[in-house]
Amino acid sequence: MTAQDSYNFKTEVKQLLHILVHSLYKDQDIFLRELISNASDAMTRMHFEMLTNRDVLDPDAELAIRIEAPEVGEDEPKRIIIKDTGIGMTKDELVTNLGTIAQSGAREFLAKMGEDASVDPSDVIGQFGVGFYSVFMIADEVRVVSRSYKKRAKAAAWISDGSEQFRVEAADKADRGTEIHITLKKDAEEFANEWKLKQIVKKHSDFVRYPVYVGDDEEQANRQESLWRKSPTKVEDEEYAQFYQQMTMDFEAPAATIHFASDMPVNVRALLFVPAKREPGILAARKEPGLMLYSHNVLIDEYNTDLLPNWLGFVDGVVDSEDISLNVSRETVQSNRIMRQLSKTVKGRVLRELKKLAKDEPEKYAGFWEEFGRALKEGLATDPMAKDDILPLFRYYSSKSDGELTSLDEYIERMPESQKEIYYVLGDSVKSVANSPHLDPFKARELEVLYWVDALDPFVSPMLTEYKDKKLRNVDDAGLELPEMDEAEEAETEDALPEAEFNQVIGRFVTTLGERVTEVRESKVLKSSPIRLVSPEDEVNRDMQRVQRYLDQNYEVPKKIVEVNRSHALIGNLARLVADHPDDERINLTIEQLYDSALVQEGLHPNPTEMVPRIQQLLELATA
Ligand code: ADP
Ligand code: MG
Repeated sequence: MTAQDSYNFKTEVKQLLHILVHSLYKDQDIFLRELISNASDAMTRMHFEMLTNRDVLDPDAELAIRIEAPEVGEDEPKRIIIKDTGIGMTKDELVTNLGTIAQSGAREFLAKMGEDASVDPSDVIGQFGVGFYSVFMIADEVRVVSRSYKKRAKAAAWISDGSEQFRVEAADKADRGTEIHITLKKDAEEFANEWKLKQIVKKHSDFVRYPVYVGDDEEQANRQESLWRKSPTKVEDEEYAQFYQQMTMDFEAPAATIHFASDMPVNVRALLFVPAKREPGILAARKEPGLMLYSHNVLIDEYNTDLLPNWLGFVDGVVDSEDISLNVSRETVQSNRIMRQLSKTVKGRVLRELKKLAKDEPEKYAGFWEEFGRALKEGLATDPMAKDDILPLFRYYSSKSDGELTSLDEYIERMPESQKEIYYVLGDSVKSVANSPHLDPFKARELEVLYWVDALDPFVSPMLTEYKDKKLRNVDDAGLELPEMDEAEEAETEDALPEAEFNQVIGRFVTTLGERVTEVRESKVLKSSPIRLVSPEDEVNRDMQRVQRYLDQNYEVPKKIVEVNRSHALIGNLARLVADHPDDERINLTIEQLYDSALVQEGLHPNPTEMVPRIQQLLELATA
């Protein structure tokens, strides 16, 4: 081994460094937040290692962060040092961890940004955590000296001035952990001031879970307080906001903050958040889904996924219980009675808060549904037992919801006495289903229909056949029995074609469409539409046909029943043509086009552009 090795930074790191070194970003002080966050991560990893392994370097060292601004001579550059007693890094780890950007998301983001000149670097820095490299906003040179917790590893140093390269060499360091030695840029010398450093710790890192000491001060600079253990009435909104930011490095306010305490049936103090966005930022501090689980204020699991079902996996935060033992391992968590009670309490509370959000702040809830509705739908598909928990959270647009989202419960409340079932129409968009021919009989009877227009809705339909003892029915269901209508209204539709002429038209549909349909018959329900497609009763899993179309898997247009409106003007015209000019090419063209249009309306057409030549042909004939 040579005493000193040089390495080139990976391209994306160079790119990030370039941005950081040259940016005029105002909030330079975030570099400290990033370094403290890394130190805290390193100590959490140490904490977990020591739960099972005491054979480490310095097992009794206090897990704490120390920040110093040492005295320097008049014309020497000013310096600061940040030390931790975390897991440390070996020489190889220094090279990989501080020479690349691990997160593929971050890499892609930077690659994209490289091409896009309109991106403002300070937006990037402000919006995402930028990690270790942010230190180069204020440093002329950085020397990272580290010693791994592994007893046999030697100390090593990583040195860089933030340009193209870094070097790594052997170093003297007897104790475990990492020291970041920063030589400040001339215009960043203000940071070499303990009072200022304390202010920055307070501002950005107040809730870091290990003590942060600045200078010789015995008193810690951060409050390191378990906010979740305080009474909810004693916590200010601002404190929640700061806690959330410092925990997640998500700078968008959460959609919901849930803080509660309970002692029966199980002791629990919890502070939970529903983030505003499903996708975490590229350098988000929380690397996995799951809740932080504490017992007696000691972290025992950093990403616990047992307490909440998968479909609530987007919830982040802290659960602390004095009833679980400190050495509860991941395996016993599932089989443990206290954990089950804890899980029930936490889940119940989250569901309650979501319902409350829906009631008190429907707009905010709509945002939540937009972001996480699909997680809930996946939940229903993968965990049908959770139906009763999940379904009350569902929202849909409907033929009577006036552009607002509505719940199944609200739908039921609006149902007239005579209506026994819940109706839905499947399709690609609110606009297309609003004009669906299937809605004719529902409009005539003023019955509400839910619009199932999300790509996941067809997946969900096999699991969603009943809600509160009411069956859910697809409006294209051939066997649907709708409430009777007033006779007066029924009578209006009486300009139906005579039977013989109508049968002629039906015959032409049959010969033209042939094998593509199972049956052609008169419709009892259509009003303003000439035809519609309905599903044969015996068709299994018909909503899955749509799924296949979305997935583009060997999609074949399903065979449907064609129902024809005997009173529609277009069908009347067609009957006259069939009687007077049975060879007129317009007859077949019209039938084909009616069928294709119906497929499009159903969201079942494999490729609507195929219709264009026929439409042109029809237009030519119409304008001749
Ligand atoms: P992130 O923290 O999001 O992983 P960073 O750029 O902040 O990204 O840090 C890169 C990596 O360097 C960390 O994932 C960690 O492996 C390592 N690292 C940084 N600082 C420390 C430290 N104080 N102790 C141990 N490892 C560290
Ligand atoms: Mg980091």
